[in-house]
Amino acid sequence: MVRTAKDIDARLYTILYKISDPEIPALSIIDLGIVQKVTLEGKHVEIDITPTYTGCPAMDSISMEIRYTLEQYGYSCLVNLVLDPAWTTDFISDVGLQKLKDYGVAPPLSTEKDKRVLYDGERLVPCPRCNSTNSKMISQFGSTACKSLFQCEDCMEPFDYFKCHK
Ligand SMILES: [Zn+2]
Repeated sequence: MVRTAKDIDARLYTILYKISDPEIPALSIIDLGIVQKVTLEGKHVEIDITPTYTGCPAMDSISMEIRYTLEQYGYSCLVNLVLDPAWTTDFISDVGLQKLKDYGVAPPLSTEKDKRVLYDGERLVPCPRCNSTNSKMISQFGSTACKSLFQCEDCMEPFDYFKCHK
């Protein structure tokens, strides 16, 4: 997985870091952990990316965005979708988790806690604004299928919770 500028050509890293998931504009595709491999030969780039959620329509637009952006910088580009390893929310970097929170989205909890929250209604999701876990689920689906809508009962703010995905 490509994580830091040391993993690939520095210029390519800077360009790729500017590309974000259309559903989570605050997170670059690097933070999201979907860029698995980048090969550069002359001006031709080959990139392996992992789809996030099966059927998430975001992937086509991410592939197009990568090709389009790299072409603007004078590269030709081939984007491959790689299904193995399958993406999980564990692929999101620590920087990415913090950015989600800053963006007002509660980052995914562990698989076990996630189940307790979504199926047993336990109050475990910290509000991204005031950190209170006195939050309740309003709807299984938030602004996108990857998220659930919550409301904090302390500061009363509604927020999205990024569901755990394995
Ligand atoms: Zn709150």
